[in-house]
Amino acid sequence: MAPSKENLSAVLYGINDMRMVKRDIPEPGDYDVLLRMGSVGICGSDVHYLTKGRIADFVVKAPMVLGHEAGGTVVKCGSKVTNLKTGDRVAIEPGVPCRRCKFCKGGRYNLCHDIYFCATPPDDGNLCQYYTHAADFCYKLPDHVTLEEAALLEPLSVGVHATRRAGVTLGSRVLICGAGPIGLVSMMAARSFGATDICITDISANRLQAAKKLGADSVVLVSSSSSDQALAEAVKCSMKEQRQPNVTIECSGAESSIRLAMLATESGGVVVLVGMGPAEVKVPILNAATREVDLRGVFRYANCYPLALDMVSSGRVDVKPLITHRFTLLESEQAFETARTGAGGAIKVMINCE
Ligand code: NAD
Ligand code: ZN
Repeated sequence: MAPSKENLSAVLYGINDMRMVKRDIPEPGDYDVLLRMGSVGICGSDVHYLTKGRIADFVVKAPMVLGHEAGGTVVKCGSKVTNLKTGDRVAIEPGVPCRRCKFCKGGRYNLCHDIYFCATPPDDGNLCQYYTHAADFCYKLPDHVTLEEAALLEPLSVGVHATRRAGVTLGSRVLICGAGPIGLVSMMAARSFGATDICITDISANRLQAAKKLGADSVVLVSSSSSDQALAEAVKCSMKEQRQPNVTIECSGAESSIRLAMLATESGGVVVLVGMGPAEVKVPILNAATREVDLRGVFRYANCYPLALDMVSSGRVDVKPLITHRFTLLESEQAFETARTGAGGAIKVMINCE
């Protein structure tokens, strides 16, 4: 299909000011591809930029295209692109690092200070019709993998990275704190890495119901009236043979949940911090120190897309049930409203840009 002359884009101008704007169709650089966008998922961070205009030190100061969970089709290749051709359908890894710093060279390119990351200000995202991206950060899809699944490889890669950082392996007993999209993909990743017992927590009974359907072995409903100790005990009691989890993947960012993660984890175990809440929290640090519970950070992912794609294309992981709502690009405002309010039990809201 010949590119149309316009490039409708969902552009964030300021707090609660997203406009559908026609922008020029960009030209791919030598090592880039021009993509006709297919599916773009809405992430909590997109909603956060829309409603708050910032996340930590990343502040929206100039108009920015939203969206970073995406799949599209190659319509033009830069002159030096060898891995893709016109017509290829791809998953787009949204962060393109500098490739030169010590983190890039060491393989931990998610820690690069000079990374272009879609829809992290000032970098434009890809909730639009046409978008260019580094060809080597686009992964060709097998015919049976859909562009929606391609978009879901982004959150799944967060889950894969968290699972790797946590050292989940065959027989791991895993606690996941928070049953939002990130908790759920972490649960799926942990399961395919061999976890044999997975408990998941949330403050929402609806989210826990969804988690059970998607394969959690047990769930614990967290209420603010329960003490940390009572909740840690509830987690233990919910698990097979009432054994404590040896790995916890914290995916809510809530202070009380980080405390629970540390207290509930078996001595010698690992807690990975995926959730991003307040910048500073009060946690039982001596408890963790004296029981040698390791705390590890998680920031996005590095080298996880290929595995996430394999997990989906082989059928080991089915991410499709995460999609609860679908909208067209022109309906972006409604899509964001649904994602923001969680109306109708929304988990993953998907926008079709075609
Ligand atoms: P979400 O808001 O949809 O899900 C968070 C879930 O946690 C919700 O279901 C909420 O009800 C639940 N929750 C709130 N308080 C809780 C508590 N005390 N105990 C248990 N559950 C509680 O968000 P999401 O898209 O699933 O993302 C989860 C978190 O991960 C966010 O903080 C997000 O910023 C962060 N995140 C981090 C990375 C990273 O690279 N580290 C990447 C993506 C998202
Ligand atoms: Zn770098």
